[in-house]
Amino acid sequence: MRVRFAPSPTGFLHIGNARTAVCNYVLAKKMGAAYVLRIEDTDMERSSRESEQSILEDLRWMGINWDEGPDAGGGCGPYRQSERFDIYKRYTDALLEQGKAYHCYCSQEELDDMRKAASDAGRPFTYPGTCRNLSAADRKKFEDQGRKPTVRFRVPDGQTITVNDLIKGRVVFESENIGGDFIIVRSDGTPIYNYIVIIDDTLMKITHVIRGEDHLPNTPKQVLIARALGLPVPEYAHLALVLGPDRAKLSKRHGITSVEMYRKEGYLPEALVNYLCMLGWATESGEDILPFDEIVRQIEMQNLARSAAVFDFVKLRWMNANYIRSADLARITDLCVPYLREAGFDTDSYPRPWFERVIDLVRGNCEVLSDITKHAPLFLREIMEPNEEADAILREEDSRKIIAEAKRLLETDLSEENFAAELVNRIKAATGLKGKKLFHPVRALFTGSLAGPELDQAIPLIGYERCRARAEFMYGKYAG
Ligand code: GLU
Repeated sequence: MRVRFAPSPTGFLHIGNARTAVCNYVLAKKMGAAYVLRIEDTDMERSSRESEQSILEDLRWMGINWDEGPDAGGGCGPYRQSERFDIYKRYTDALLEQGKAYHCYCSQEELDDMRKAASDAGRPFTYPGTCRNLSAADRKKFEDQGRKPTVRFRVPDGQTITVNDLIKGRVVFESENIGGDFIIVRSDGTPIYNYIVIIDDTLMKITHVIRGEDHLPNTPKQVLIARALGLPVPEYAHLALVLGPDRAKLSKRHGITSVEMYRKEGYLPEALVNYLCMLGWATESGEDILPFDEIVRQIEMQNLARSAAVFDFVKLRWMNANYIRSADLARITDLCVPYLREAGFDTDSYPRPWFERVIDLVRGNCEVLSDITKHAPLFLREIMEPNEEADAILREEDSRKIIAEAKRLLETDLSEENFAAELVNRIKAATGLKGKKLFHPVRALFTGSLAGPELDQAIPLIGYERCRARAEFMYGKYAG
């Protein structure tokens, strides 16, 4: 069995397409199918190699490995459509010769007028077949006018196209209702998606075409081309659409829509892949978080949803937070470093074991890796300016006693060796304060905030020198 992912390199990898890529991958693993990556770059103006590169990079980042593709080779190449024009031309010549396609000389303006007339009359546009039966003389006249023809496929009348979609079920189309004879080759000689996609699916021996439901209306055109060329038709599985929370087409205004941005914000690939698999699929047990191999084990094509799935940004963040908490600590530390560097911290100046303990202590508060820049500075800054809440606490009379005692202890009685174990107890003993009255000011004093990790874990990591510096700083501010 063989599946394919066929992106058009006209921009970044959109999250909806990433979901198609992931579904193909997981189902390929399930079926033991080969995964073919085909680049659909016939729109010369909008396609670019940079976009292709970034799509490949995003796919790799998500852990998708293809068996055949532009960089991987394989027996059915080339894998870029722009390198296959001679193949398509052979098919076009055959269609023209057999009268199954014809040259059309209608200009863009003429077609626009026809389209406008249809829309003014409130009916869908159907090409009226103006150039269907041109004589050689007609054609010469147009050629002499300098018109460059497109090639149109002659849609046969009275054909029923039944697609037994593996997800959507049986979908029936009539050839009368697909908009008339459609263009298969543009006037500049570049072929059109709906035409060559089926040629490539056949030549690349694709057995299962798994793609977004937005391509379901294209399927009858592709099937008609296959019939005209005597090519076999693959199985189709159209994945239900992904909508934004307001049930409109998922777009930028809903949130991040490019895989690259998810990566940059600090989503883990396994979290994104897990979430994308859960769009339109649910486990029997209702579990959401499961490793890729387990998804492969449990997923079944026929259990994928037929109706649209809503992209839940909050749930994805929640899922990512779970993955950050349970992932290998050394890996998470490595992944956090660039965010902290970017924020201006000299991460190389700390011993690695200490750094990992810091990350471990705060990763539970990170939904995305970039959140580390909110939670780690507590350990990376010399001084923490108190926030509003902490300021209010530190102004209280009892707090002044605590600050003064902390400063004294750190400067005289306590040392690097014993401060972590003794500091809070000694302040308690000296001031007679306890509970909230003790812990809120102590926390505010050393962290500048009332929220954050457990104090008894935070204080040793902040370290003796910085605790001393912070006590001195707060003393100057509140108790001096
Ligand atoms: N290049 C098409 C797209 O990106 C692929 C459609 C298909 O899978 O047939 O939408």
